Amino acid sequence: MLKWFMADLHIHTCLSPCGDLQMTPQKIIKQALERKLDVIAICDHNSGKNLNPIIKLGSQNGLSIIPGMEICSSEEVHVLGLFNLIESALEMQNIVYENLNGENDPDIFGMQVIGNESDEVEGFENKLLIGAVDLTLEEIVNHIHQLDGIVIASHIDRESYSVIGQLGFIPDSVKFDGLEVSASLPKEKLDQLKVEFSNYQLIQNSDAHFLNDIGKCTTQFFIKEPTFEEIKKAFKKINGRKISIN
Ligand SMILES: [Zn+2]
Ligand SMILES: [Zn+2]
Repeated sequence: MLKWFMADLHIHTCLSPCGDLQMTPQKIIKQALERKLDVIAICDHNSGKNLNPIIKLGSQNGLSIIPGMEICSSEEVHVLGLFNLIESALEMQNIVYENLNGENDPDIFGMQVIGNESDEVEGFENKLLIGAVDLTLEEIVNHIHQLDGIVIASHIDRESYSVIGQLGFIPDSVKFDGLEVSASLPKEKLDQLKVEFSNYQLIQNSDAHFLNDIGKCTTQFFIKEPTFEEIKKAFKKINGRKISIN
């Protein structure tokens, strides 16, 4: 039987240099449960190094976690990759890391903290996670699809780091499964985008960098259970599955 589940599929952790240091594995899980979310996706910038502890804590606490990543293409377009398996997300991380240059300067960009299930600091990522990957948008999208992932264009209404902001349009060669609109988008503008991009599925997430923002904005999925496979089917509208934003 299908029912509605509440999802926030774009949450950063303390690994993202712009993510608050309070965005630790335990605290993210606690906040997501308090906000009555059924499923969340963890999407740090260009890395999946905090996925493991959060997925473990999620399964211990009955919260479905989708391993993801927000990748910055060479055109400086942000794109979300969502994966069924953590192994696939980490394979994507390997591809990204091979094409990501530079070292982080914590004083300028912020710390990149790798945590564990006990919310202890395991280490710091030295790669420049805020940087652009030396792969085109099309190459990134194709890699995610080869790993059976879902591809979402991040915050398309934003002027910077979005496919519309950077390129002005969605190239035919880039096959997004869905488009994300920002949490802060006024209803009027949202209605405009729904018309403009009526051939795409729109979703809305918090893009949380702070605990308080988790679940501030959600997407509802009419599916069997809050899993990656069901969400993937919802994007394809298989057997009555559907997606709703406010
Ligand atoms: Zn972004
Ligand atoms: Zn983000």
